[in-house]
Amino acid sequence: MNDPVSRHLLAPQTPLGELTFDNSFVRELPGDPEQRNVPRAVRNACYTRVSPTPVAAPTLLAWSEATAAMLGIANPASPTGLEAAVLGGNRVLDGMQPYAARYGGHQFGHWAGQLGDGRAMTLAEVIGPDGARRELQLKGAGRTPYSRTADGRAVLRSSVREFLCSEAMHFLGVPTTRALSLVGTGDAVVRDMFYDGNPQAEPGAVVCRVAPSFVRFGNFEILAAQDEPHLSKRLADYVIAQHFSHLLQEHPDPTERYATWFETICRRTAVLVSEWMRVGFVHGVMNTDNMSILGLTIDYGPYGWLEGYDLGWTPNTTDAEGRRYCYGNQPGIAQWNLVRLANALLPLCSDTAALERGLAAFANTFEAASDQMLRNKLGLATLDREGDDALVSDLFALLQATETDMTLFFRNLARIPIDAPDQAIDAAPLRIAFYDEAALAHGHGEKLANWLRRYAMRVRQEARPATERLAQMNQANPKYVLRNYLAQQAIDALAQGDASVIERLMSVLKHPYDELPQHEDLAARRPEWARHKAGCSALSCSS
Ligand code: AMP
Ligand code: MG
Repeated sequence: MNDPVSRHLLAPQTPLGELTFDNSFVRELPGDPEQRNVPRAVRNACYTRVSPTPVAAPTLLAWSEATAAMLGIANPASPTGLEAAVLGGNRVLDGMQPYAARYGGHQFGHWAGQLGDGRAMTLAEVIGPDGARRELQLKGAGRTPYSRTADGRAVLRSSVREFLCSEAMHFLGVPTTRALSLVGTGDAVVRDMFYDGNPQAEPGAVVCRVAPSFVRFGNFEILAAQDEPHLSKRLADYVIAQHFSHLLQEHPDPTERYATWFETICRRTAVLVSEWMRVGFVHGVMNTDNMSILGLTIDYGPYGWLEGYDLGWTPNTTDAEGRRYCYGNQPGIAQWNLVRLANALLPLCSDTAALERGLAAFANTFEAASDQMLRNKLGLATLDREGDDALVSDLFALLQATETDMTLFFRNLARIPIDAPDQAIDAAPLRIAFYDEAALAHGHGEKLANWLRRYAMRVRQEARPATERLAQMNQANPKYVLRNYLAQQAIDALAQGDASVIERLMSVLKHPYDELPQHEDLAARRPEWARHKAGCSALSCSS
């Protein structure tokens, strides 16, 4: 009864309206003394108290039972009840103290000054049945002093994408913020989706997202940029006490503590990015305001999933020229962002050598995590950097040479009969991974078969039980990911009032590593109609 698992399972679920809240961020950190809700530069504060702006007709469109259970919240009885009112921003419960956080950030490599929660607001913190504290944060709930010239709202399509992907990433085992609910607002939101001078009215929505903290690198950057070192210290001490409390005992010396904290953030960020690389996730906008201090995937915008393996691929049309945030650049950009964070922490930790050790820890951790990831994806017990280098680099060159679905390729690699005689090993089990099956006939098939024979020989050298190897591979190579066109189909159906598509997708994405024969269609490679369709292959930042 005392272990966390059974406590969690047996905990009674409390209706949202009866929860108690404990708002440590508001209580422990200095807020903006001014409350005028107009765009303005905020100084000497970590946040501004705000209120959500009510919407016309809040209706619950989707609900994550898994996130609700984690928080100890009972499932709603009606789509238009109290949950929709609160999570759509029409009602603030007793004990909630909504606020918008102040942060800045480097966008596309340049310092952008004050950004802040322009359409997000944390309602309150909840302590779940597992004893952990988490923020409930609305996205799209109206203007704040940080909204600049924008409307504080979010459209249904981007909200569905955030809702679905948060939960899909969680079940894949990738560190992420979560999503509790998706509420349709009944209000229209005008967006120029293609940035071509054709603004359209679209349905609006609000997502309630959930994380232990939504603090970003940018929360520290703004304090350093505006020379408020007393606040840098207060925010760092708060984050450490709440989320890295082991460092308090381990490092009584503050400089050493801040340096070790930074190193921990570096290590977590390295693990995060190696996980993105494993599952083929491209964040799309890795600005420093979209980097979580806890190493979580945060701010789902124009993200995408690799279909054809391509290091240069980005779903973000705004980044199509420079490809700063493409798949293959993600590790390097993460490190660049950590350098920005290190600079922002200089007022706390003048020991630059210690901060450099943190950055070195990023590189080492990423390398170790990548090695382990490759071992798992290939089903090997060991990977020898030198001895296996050619095997690995030849594989990725083959994947890049012709459009090869990354998810299907690795998932089906486990089906290659590695004990068969050499001439019986061919690329047939992998055929479904090729967008251009003719490429297999034109020499590529033979090259791939050659590689597979080398691979089979390498696997045989380890002489491990097949079941062990298959389990290892199937844990590392998901069967189901949130393919871009699947998200778009869920959006299109929901916009027509049909929730069955999103519900089916949610139920399958909860089991990304399982074989679900009745849902085989959701594991298929992207259909040709989706190749250039908006939302299925490329996305703008318009959301
Ligand atoms: P993003 O590119 O989504 O990370 O957003 C960058 C900044 O713009 C953040 O400060 C957001 O809060 C703000 N922002 C984005 N969209 C809106 C919007 N519709 N209304 C107000 N602020 C927004
Ligand atoms: Mg953002």
